[in-house]
Amino acid sequence: MAKQDIDLKYKHRGKRKCKICGNVRGLIQKYGLYICRKCFRENAKELGFQKFG
Ligand SMILES: [Zn+2]
Repeated sequence: MAKQDIDLKYKHRGKRKCKICGNVRGLIQKYGLYICRKCFRENAKELGFQKFG
């Protein structure tokens, strides 16, 4: 594996925060959402998760 690949992988691993507000707490990584619970609830309808919670 080239060094560049390792760097990319490392960057990706450290990129775990809400893509809407940047919060790292309560982050939902399921379904590739990568948003926090707060933003998830606020955007649940648009995301098609109306019955969540
Ligand atoms: Zn958020």
